[in-house]
Amino acid sequence: MRVLADPSLFRQQAFLDGRFVGEPSFEVVNPADGTVIGRVPHLGAEAATAAVDAASAAFPGWAGKTAQERSDVLRAWRDLILENRIDLATILTSEQGKPLLEALGEIAYAASYVEFYAEEAKRVAGELLPSHRADARIMVLRQPIGVVAAITPWNFPAAMITRKIAPALAAGCTVVVKPAPETPLTALALAELARRAGFPAGAVNVITGDPIEIGGVLTSHEKVRLVGFTGSTDVGKILMRQSAGTVKKVALELGGNAPFIVFDDADLDAAVEGAMVSKFRNMGQTCVCTNRFLVDTSVHDAFVEKLKAPVGELRLGDGFSAGVTQGPLITRRAVAKVEEHLADALARGAQIVLGGRRSPLGELFYEPTIVTGATALMRLAREETFGPLAAIYRFETEDEAVEAANGPETGLAAYFYARDYARIIRVMERLEFGMVGVNTGLISTELAPFGGIKQSGNSREGSSHGIIEFTELKYVCLGGLANGWPAHG
Ligand code: ADP
Repeated sequence: MRVLADPSLFRQQAFLDGRFVGEPSFEVVNPADGTVIGRVPHLGAEAATAAVDAASAAFPGWAGKTAQERSDVLRAWRDLILENRIDLATILTSEQGKPLLEALGEIAYAASYVEFYAEEAKRVAGELLPSHRADARIMVLRQPIGVVAAITPWNFPAAMITRKIAPALAAGCTVVVKPAPETPLTALALAELARRAGFPAGAVNVITGDPIEIGGVLTSHEKVRLVGFTGSTDVGKILMRQSAGTVKKVALELGGNAPFIVFDDADLDAAVEGAMVSKFRNMGQTCVCTNRFLVDTSVHDAFVEKLKAPVGELRLGDGFSAGVTQGPLITRRAVAKVEEHLADALARGAQIVLGGRRSPLGELFYEPTIVTGATALMRLAREETFGPLAAIYRFETEDEAVEAANGPETGLAAYFYARDYARIIRVMERLEFGMVGVNTGLISTELAPFGGIKQSGNSREGSSHGIIEFTELKYVCLGGLANGWPAHG
C-alpha cells in the first residue's frame, strides 16, 4: 500500500458501534498488479446482528437531534472527506484500479452527496392538510424510516456509499453498510472520517465479510426498515425476495444496458466526445456506461472512423502512472465476460475495428475495443458487458432505433444525439429509461434523481427525491377541537 499523509485512515477492521473491531484476515488485492494491499475481517451473521442492534440503539438519539445538528455533523464529514481526498483517492485506486485522477473525481462526487444532504436535512417537511371535519386537523409527519442497510458495489467504492447513507443520516436514520469485498478499505476510511466528524456511536456501521451471511441478516432483521442496494439485477432480486418476510422497503439500483443513439442529424464530433465518457469511464464498469451504440446507417461509417482516433489514444496502465486513462478490470471474471461477449459477437458476424485482446500489461488489463456489425441476437445486446467493449449497431429509421433501445427489460440510462428539436422531444418521451442524456454522455450529479425503471430498479438517489426514500409518512388526525373556524368558536 502506498504511503498516506494520514496513515490512520488505513483501517483494516470493521466499524461497529463506534469502534474498529475484528481480526484482519480477508485479503484485499490491487487489481493492477495482484499484490495484497491490506486485510479486513471476514465477519458473518453475528457481527451483522450486532451492527443492526447498535444502529437500532443509536436511532432514537440521532433521529431526535434537530435537523441543524445532523446537518452540522454531515457538513463536518464532507469537509473531512475533501481535506483527505488525496489519501482517500490513493486507497480507492489501490483497491479498485481506476486512474488516480478519476478516483479524485469520485471522492469529490462522493462528498457532493454529503454536502447536498447536509443542506437538505433542513428541508424535510410534513404537511397540514385541509380537514374533512371542522373539529379536527390533518397533520402529516415525515419521520425517518429507521435503521437502513446499504449493500454497495466495487465500481464506485466511495460514491455508492455516500449516495445512500448521506440522505439516510440526514433524514435521521442510522445505517449499516456492507461494502463490496473487493473494495472495503475506502469504506472503512470513510467510516474513520465519520467517527471524527462526530456521528454518535452506532449511527454509522461498516461490516466487512461474507455477503450472503451479512445480507441474510440485513434483509431479515426485524429492526432494519430499508435495504438499499446497488449491484447486479440477480442479487437485487434475491435481496428483494429475502426482504419480503419482514416487509422492508427495498431501494434498488441495478444493472442497465444503456443505448447510445446517433441520429443522422447529430453533431458527430460531439457524439464521439459523449461516447468516450459514457463508454470508457472506469473501463466501462459503470451501470450507466453505454452498452449499445445504435447509429443511423447514413452516418455509421463516419461515426466509427471518428471514434477510432480517441479510443486508440486511451492509455492503459496502473492507475498511479501519469497519463493513464484506463486501469485494470476488477477481476478475472470481469475479463472473462468481455472475452465471452466478444467471442460470441464474432461468431455471429461482428468485426473488430480496434483492440479485441488482453493487454500484455497484466492479466486484468484489456484493450479498449470497438466492434461493428453488432445485432440483437448477440449476448452483448442482451447483457451488460461492463467492460471496454464498444459494440456498434446500425439502424435505418427513428422507430427502429427507439424500439431497439427499449428492447431489453432494463431501463437505467439512455443517451442520444440529434439536432432536430421535434425529434429530441419525441425520442426523449418514448425512451423507457429512468435517465436520458440528450447530446451529452455524462449525466450523474447529486442535484438530479439517479435511478432506473423496469428491472433496473425502483428508487432514486440524489436531489430532494433521494432523501424522501428514507422517510415514512405518518398521518395524525387531531380531533376534539373546538367546533370550526376560530370566529365561530
Ligand atoms: P458484481 O457482480 O458486480 O460484484 P454484485 O451484485 O454481486 O455485483 O455485488 C454487489 C454487492 O452485493 C456487493 O457488496 C456484494 O458483496 C453484494 N452481494 C452479492 N451477493 C449477495 C447476496 N447474496 N446477499 C447480499 N449481498 C450480496
